[in-house]
Amino acid sequence: MTDWTLVTGANRGLGLEFVRQVLADDGHVLATCRHPGKATALNHLAAEHPGHLKILPLDVGDTRSRDELVREWPLATAEGARIGLLVNNAGVLHGGERFGALEAAGLEDSLRTNVVGPLLLTQALAPLLADGARVANLSSQLGSIANTTHFGTPSYAISKAALNMATVQLAHALRPRGIVVVALHPGWVRTDMGGARADETPEDAVAGLRRVIAGLDDAASGRFLDWTGAALPW
Ligand code: NDP
Repeated sequence: MTDWTLVTGANRGLGLEFVRQVLADDGHVLATCRHPGKATALNHLAAEHPGHLKILPLDVGDTRSRDELVREWPLATAEGARIGLLVNNAGVLHGGERFGALEAAGLEDSLRTNVVGPLLLTQALAPLLADGARVANLSSQLGSIANTTHFGTPSYAISKAALNMATVQLAHALRPRGIVVVALHPGWVRTDMGGARADETPEDAVAGLRRVIAGLDDAASGRFLDWTGAALPW
Protein backbone atom coordinates (compact mmCIF):
# COMPACT_ATOMS: atom_id res chain seq x y z
CA MET A 1 0.00 0.00 0.00
CA THR A 2 1.37 3.41 -1.03
CA ASP A 3 1.91 5.98 1.70
CA TRP A 4 0.61 9.46 0.99
CA THR A 5 2.07 12.90 1.63
CA LEU A 6 -0.31 15.39 3.27
CA VAL A 7 0.50 19.09 2.83
CA THR A 8 -1.27 21.99 4.54
CA GLY A 9 -1.47 25.44 2.93
CA ALA A 10 -0.85 23.74 -0.43
CA ASN A 11 -2.42 26.35 -2.71
CA ARG A 12 0.62 28.64 -3.02
CA GLY A 13 4.20 29.20 -1.93
CA LEU A 14 6.23 26.38 -0.41
CA GLY A 15 3.18 24.15 0.07
CA LEU A 16 2.35 24.20 -3.64
CA GLU A 17 6.00 23.49 -4.49
CA PHE A 18 5.99 20.47 -2.13
CA VAL A 19 2.97 19.12 -4.01
CA ARG A 20 4.67 19.68 -7.40
CA GLN A 21 7.86 17.91 -6.38
CA VAL A 22 6.14 14.90 -4.79
CA LEU A 23 4.01 14.48 -7.93
CA ALA A 24 7.11 14.79 -10.14
CA ASP A 25 8.46 11.76 -8.22
CA ASP A 26 5.22 9.87 -8.95
CA GLY A 27 4.10 10.16 -5.31
CA HIS A 28 0.57 10.47 -3.93
CA VAL A 29 -0.46 13.73 -2.27
CA LEU A 30 -3.43 14.94 -0.30
CA ALA A 31 -3.18 18.70 -0.73
CA THR A 32 -5.19 20.79 1.70
CA CYS A 33 -6.03 24.48 1.60
CA ARG A 34 -8.66 26.84 2.88
CA HIS A 35 -10.49 27.32 -0.43
CA PRO A 36 -10.00 24.42 -2.90
CA GLY A 37 -12.39 26.02 -5.37
CA LYS A 38 -10.01 28.97 -5.77
CA ALA A 39 -6.80 26.88 -5.84
CA THR A 40 -6.26 27.15 -9.59
CA ALA A 41 -2.71 25.76 -9.72
CA LEU A 42 -3.64 22.78 -7.54
CA ASN A 43 -6.70 22.00 -9.63
CA HIS A 44 -4.57 22.01 -12.80
CA LEU A 45 -2.12 19.62 -11.16
CA ALA A 46 -4.99 17.33 -10.11
CA ALA A 47 -6.14 17.13 -13.72
CA GLU A 48 -2.58 16.33 -14.87
CA HIS A 49 -2.04 13.65 -12.19
CA PRO A 50 -5.29 11.70 -11.87
CA GLY A 51 -5.31 9.38 -8.87
CA HIS A 52 -2.14 10.92 -7.44
CA LEU A 53 -3.45 14.26 -6.16
CA LYS A 54 -6.54 14.80 -4.04
CA ILE A 55 -7.54 18.20 -2.70
CA LEU A 56 -9.54 18.75 0.48
CA PRO A 57 -10.47 21.89 2.42
CA LEU A 58 -8.60 22.59 5.65
CA ASP A 59 -8.28 25.68 7.79
CA VAL A 60 -5.57 24.48 10.17
CA GLY A 61 -6.71 26.82 12.94
CA ASP A 62 -10.28 25.55 12.95
CA THR A 63 -11.23 22.52 15.09
CA ARG A 64 -14.21 21.49 12.98
CA SER A 65 -12.20 21.77 9.77
CA ARG A 66 -9.45 19.52 11.19
CA ASP A 67 -12.03 16.95 12.36
CA GLU A 68 -13.70 17.00 8.96
CA LEU A 69 -10.38 16.32 7.22
CA VAL A 70 -9.82 13.22 9.37
CA ARG A 71 -13.32 11.99 8.46
CA GLU A 72 -12.73 12.65 4.74
CA TRP A 73 -9.30 10.95 4.56
CA PRO A 74 -10.51 7.39 3.77
CA LEU A 75 -12.96 8.67 1.16
CA ALA A 76 -10.38 10.85 -0.60
CA THR A 77 -7.51 8.37 -0.60
CA ALA A 78 -7.29 4.64 -1.20
CA GLU A 79 -8.85 2.17 1.28
CA GLY A 80 -6.42 1.69 4.19
CA ALA A 81 -3.99 4.38 2.94
CA ARG A 82 -1.63 5.85 5.52
CA ILE A 83 0.30 9.13 5.73
CA GLY A 84 4.03 8.64 5.19
CA LEU A 85 4.84 12.36 5.37
CA LEU A 86 2.84 15.14 6.98
CA VAL A 87 4.04 18.61 5.99
CA ASN A 88 2.67 21.18 8.44
CA ASN A 89 3.39 24.06 6.08
CA ALA A 90 0.49 26.52 6.47
CA GLY A 91 1.62 29.61 8.31
CA VAL A 92 0.91 33.27 8.75
CA LEU A 93 3.09 36.31 9.36
CA HIS A 94 1.53 39.54 10.59
CA GLY A 95 3.88 42.27 9.44
CA GLY A 96 4.11 45.85 10.63
CA GLU A 97 3.89 45.10 14.35
CA ARG A 98 5.70 47.48 16.67
CA PHE A 99 6.22 47.61 20.40
CA GLY A 100 3.68 49.95 21.99
CA ALA A 101 1.03 49.03 19.44
CA LEU A 102 0.86 45.23 19.73
CA GLU A 103 -2.65 43.84 19.62
CA ALA A 104 -4.12 40.55 20.77
CA ALA A 105 -5.57 39.74 17.35
CA GLY A 106 -2.19 39.30 15.62
CA LEU A 107 -0.75 37.26 18.47
CA GLU A 108 -3.82 35.06 18.73
CA ASP A 109 -4.06 34.43 15.00
CA SER A 110 -0.34 33.59 14.80
CA LEU A 111 -0.58 31.15 17.68
CA ARG A 112 -3.77 29.56 16.35
CA THR A 113 -2.39 29.10 12.83
CA ASN A 114 1.30 28.43 13.48
CA VAL A 115 1.13 26.42 16.72
CA VAL A 116 -2.33 25.17 17.71
CA GLY A 117 -3.06 24.18 14.10
CA PRO A 118 -0.05 21.94 13.42
CA LEU A 119 -0.02 20.49 16.95
CA LEU A 120 -3.68 19.50 17.03
CA LEU A 121 -3.72 18.45 13.38
CA THR A 122 -0.82 16.08 14.01
CA GLN A 123 -2.62 14.71 17.06
CA ALA A 124 -5.83 14.22 15.09
CA LEU A 125 -4.01 12.53 12.20
CA ALA A 126 -1.78 10.37 14.43
CA PRO A 127 -3.90 7.22 13.92
CA LEU A 128 -3.49 7.68 10.15
CA LEU A 129 0.29 8.15 10.24
CA ALA A 130 2.22 5.11 9.08
CA ASP A 131 4.64 3.64 11.62
CA GLY A 132 7.97 5.25 10.74
CA ALA A 133 6.27 8.28 9.14
CA ARG A 134 7.86 11.74 9.03
CA VAL A 135 6.25 14.96 10.28
CA ALA A 136 7.85 18.18 9.02
CA ASN A 137 6.82 21.36 10.83
CA LEU A 138 7.72 24.45 8.78
CA SER A 139 9.35 26.63 11.41
CA SER A 140 11.63 29.63 10.95
CA GLN A 141 14.99 30.84 12.13
CA LEU A 142 12.98 33.83 13.43
CA GLY A 143 11.71 31.40 16.09
CA SER A 144 15.26 30.80 17.34
CA ILE A 145 15.48 32.44 20.77
CA ALA A 146 19.29 32.21 20.75
CA ASN A 147 19.56 34.03 17.39
CA THR A 148 17.15 36.86 18.20
CA THR A 149 19.03 40.17 18.09
CA HIS A 150 16.29 42.79 17.71
CA PHE A 151 12.55 43.43 18.16
CA GLY A 152 10.76 42.31 15.01
CA THR A 153 7.69 40.32 13.90
CA PRO A 154 7.00 39.29 17.53
CA SER A 155 3.75 37.39 16.89
CA TYR A 156 5.47 35.31 14.23
CA ALA A 157 8.70 34.79 16.18
CA ILE A 158 6.86 33.80 19.36
CA SER A 159 4.61 31.41 17.46
CA LYS A 160 7.54 29.70 15.70
CA ALA A 161 9.42 29.33 19.01
CA ALA A 162 6.27 27.69 20.40
CA LEU A 163 6.02 25.49 17.29
CA ASN A 164 9.56 24.33 18.02
CA MET A 165 8.47 23.18 21.48
CA ALA A 166 5.39 21.55 19.97
CA THR A 167 7.78 19.69 17.65
CA VAL A 168 9.80 18.36 20.58
CA GLN A 169 6.63 17.34 22.41
CA LEU A 170 5.31 15.53 19.34
CA ALA A 171 8.66 13.84 18.79
CA HIS A 172 8.40 12.31 22.27
CA ALA A 173 4.75 11.33 21.89
CA LEU A 174 5.28 9.59 18.54
CA ARG A 175 8.73 8.07 19.13
CA PRO A 176 7.32 4.66 20.23
CA ARG A 177 5.93 4.26 16.69
CA GLY A 178 9.18 5.22 15.02
CA ILE A 179 7.65 8.49 13.77
CA VAL A 180 10.21 11.27 13.32
CA VAL A 181 9.07 14.88 13.92
CA VAL A 182 11.27 17.84 13.02
CA ALA A 183 11.11 21.65 12.87
CA LEU A 184 12.52 22.85 9.53
CA HIS A 185 13.64 26.33 8.47
CA PRO A 186 13.34 26.58 4.67
CA GLY A 187 15.71 29.52 4.20
CA TRP A 188 14.53 32.95 3.12
CA VAL A 189 12.36 32.04 0.17
CA ARG A 190 10.70 34.03 -2.66
CA THR A 191 7.02 33.51 -1.85
CA ASP A 192 4.23 35.90 -0.87
CA MET A 193 5.56 35.67 2.69
CA GLY A 194 9.28 35.86 1.90
CA GLY A 195 8.92 38.60 -0.71
CA ALA A 196 10.64 39.17 -4.06
CA ARG A 197 14.07 40.00 -2.56
CA ALA A 198 14.46 36.69 -0.73
CA ASP A 199 17.53 34.51 -1.37
CA GLU A 200 16.05 31.17 -2.35
CA THR A 201 13.60 29.98 -4.98
CA PRO A 202 10.75 27.76 -3.75
CA GLU A 203 12.12 25.03 -6.05
CA ASP A 204 15.56 24.99 -4.37
CA ALA A 205 14.17 25.43 -0.85
CA VAL A 206 11.72 22.53 -1.18
CA ALA A 207 14.31 20.33 -2.91
CA GLY A 208 16.62 20.99 0.06
CA LEU A 209 13.89 20.31 2.62
CA ARG A 210 12.95 17.06 0.86
CA ARG A 211 16.59 15.92 0.91
CA VAL A 212 16.76 16.68 4.63
CA ILE A 213 13.50 14.79 5.28
CA ALA A 214 14.68 11.79 3.23
CA GLY A 215 17.88 11.65 5.29
CA LEU A 216 16.22 11.76 8.73
CA ASP A 217 16.86 8.90 11.12
CA ASP A 218 15.28 8.20 14.52
CA ALA A 219 17.98 10.20 16.30
CA ALA A 220 16.94 13.33 14.37
CA SER A 221 13.46 13.41 15.87
CA GLY A 222 12.78 16.58 17.83
CA ARG A 223 15.54 18.55 16.11
CA PHE A 224 15.48 22.05 14.52
CA LEU A 225 17.21 21.96 11.12
CA ASP A 226 17.53 24.22 8.11
CA TRP A 227 17.08 23.30 4.43
CA THR A 228 20.71 22.20 4.19
CA GLY A 229 20.38 19.87 7.18
CA ALA A 230 22.37 22.15 9.52
CA ALA A 231 21.15 22.29 13.13
CA LEU A 232 19.80 25.63 14.34
CA PRO A 233 20.06 26.83 17.93
CA TRP A 234 16.81 26.93 19.90
P1 NDP B 1 2.94 32.02 1.96
O1 NDP B 1 2.45 33.22 2.71
O2 NDP B 1 3.43 32.19 0.57
O3 NDP B 1 1.81 30.89 2.00
C1 NDP B 1 1.20 30.60 3.23
C2 NDP B 1 0.27 29.43 3.03
O4 NDP B 1 -0.32 29.12 4.29
C3 NDP B 1 -0.88 29.74 2.06
O5 NDP B 1 -1.21 28.59 1.34
C4 NDP B 1 -2.00 30.12 3.01
O6 NDP B 1 -3.29 29.91 2.50
C5 NDP B 1 -1.73 29.10 4.12
N1 NDP B 1 -2.45 29.41 5.35
C6 NDP B 1 -2.37 30.51 6.13
N2 NDP B 1 -3.23 30.41 7.15
C7 NDP B 1 -3.88 29.22 6.99
C8 NDP B 1 -4.89 28.54 7.72
N3 NDP B 1 -5.44 29.05 8.83
N4 NDP B 1 -5.30 27.32 7.27
C9 NDP B 1 -4.77 26.78 6.15
N5 NDP B 1 -3.84 27.39 5.40
C10 NDP B 1 -3.40 28.60 5.84
O7 NDP B 1 4.09 31.38 2.87
P2 NDP B 1 5.36 30.47 2.47
O8 NDP B 1 4.95 29.49 1.45
O9 NDP B 1 6.51 31.34 2.25
O10 NDP B 1 5.61 29.75 3.87
C11 NDP B 1 5.28 28.38 4.14
C12 NDP B 1 5.78 28.06 5.53
O11 NDP B 1 7.20 28.28 5.59
C13 NDP B 1 5.16 28.91 6.63
O12 NDP B 1 4.91 28.13 7.76
C14 NDP B 1 6.25 29.95 6.90
O13 NDP B 1 6.19 30.47 8.20
C15 NDP B 1 7.52 29.15 6.66
N6 NDP B 1 8.69 29.96 6.36
C16 NDP B 1 8.76 30.69 5.19
C17 NDP B 1 9.87 31.47 4.93
C18 NDP B 1 10.03 32.27 3.66
O14 NDP B 1 11.06 32.95 3.52
N7 NDP B 1 9.09 32.22 2.72
C19 NDP B 1 10.99 31.56 5.89
C20 NDP B 1 10.80 30.77 7.08
C21 NDP B 1 9.70 30.00 7.28
P3 NDP B 1 -4.23 31.12 1.94
O15 NDP B 1 -3.85 31.30 0.48
O16 NDP B 1 -5.63 30.61 2.14
O17 NDP B 1 -3.91 32.33 2.77
